[in-house]
Amino acid sequence: MTEQIDGEAVAADIRAELQSTVDSLADAGERPTLATVLMSPDPASETYVSMKQNDCEELGINARDIELDLDEPAEALFDVIDELNADDDVNGILVQSPVPDHIDYREVLERIDPEKDVDGFHPTNVGRLVAGYPQYKPCTPHGIQKLLAATDVDTEGKDAVVVGRSRIVGKPMANLFIQKAPGGNATTTVCHSRTDDLAAKTRQADILVAAAGIPEFIDGSMLSAGVVVIDVGINRVDADTEKGYELVGDVDYESAAAKASAITPVPGGVGPMTRAMLLYNTVKATGLQNDLDVDLP
Ligand code: NAD
Repeated sequence: MTEQIDGEAVAADIRAELQSTVDSLADAGERPTLATVLMSPDPASETYVSMKQNDCEELGINARDIELDLDEPAEALFDVIDELNADDDVNGILVQSPVPDHIDYREVLERIDPEKDVDGFHPTNVGRLVAGYPQYKPCTPHGIQKLLAATDVDTEGKDAVVVGRSRIVGKPMANLFIQKAPGGNATTTVCHSRTDDLAAKTRQADILVAAAGIPEFIDGSMLSAGVVVIDVGINRVDADTEKGYELVGDVDYESAAAKASAITPVPGGVGPMTRAMLLYNTVKATGLQNDLDVDLP
């Protein structure tokens, strides 16, 4: 029997636990605040930001919403970030990517105060993760760790294969898998666009994380029996639907599920976990900035 891993359910459990921590923080006079900054040419970004704000409001986290026109200069965005960095009422800052081409995303990331960097992308936070003492783990790979734990998948000693080496998914995922810590201790292979004979690598996997952004390109023939498949991909493909498209993962679900012991669906797998872990980092940031101990799931 192949288990379908229910990301919605695991994320709901995490949100419920975070809710009581938010309530305790509020009792102590500290209501967490997340500021989102939207200056993105990608139409999906607006949806992502509004989903993140709704998640916050559901838990009683204040959501501050800042939008900039696409033709504003980089300095306008940097000024906004500087103000949010200096504002003691703001605990977390998220600048939705991508930003317009005339702005260097690296400079954006470096501008955010690492203590408020709830995405975990600032070089200080990346460095802490690589060095083995993460403060804010990037939301998607952290969510995957939680999803594996909730599915009773022990990563220790397993062969984990990560397809993709991006800053937001592939690299931090690999770094978490190799940590000498719970959810880590996996022997980890990172595959990317220049990998030779990808299928030979993916067949080695006990745990496969697919994050290449290519619709349904990993199929059952590339997997070994019993593998746990985590599909990160969210790809819009043309379809005869009201919106004119549908969302598919990087994994061909049917053929992969025939091989896998457990597999995430798209949607309803990794996506809800990413959003839940943003709330987690925002709550954590509020505790750290106010020197308060907080219970985290
Ligand atoms: P990206 O485009 O930044 O990186 C893609 C990676 O895939 C690159 O590192 C590249 O080397 C690798 N790649 C490309 N072609 C390959 C090939 N033929 N074989 C092996 N590797 C190849 O993408 P990203 O931001 O990491 O996102 C990946 C996917 O995950 C996208 O579909 C994105 O929408 C989705 N995503 C989902 C969530 C979520 O919460 N579910 C979060 C982030 C990203």
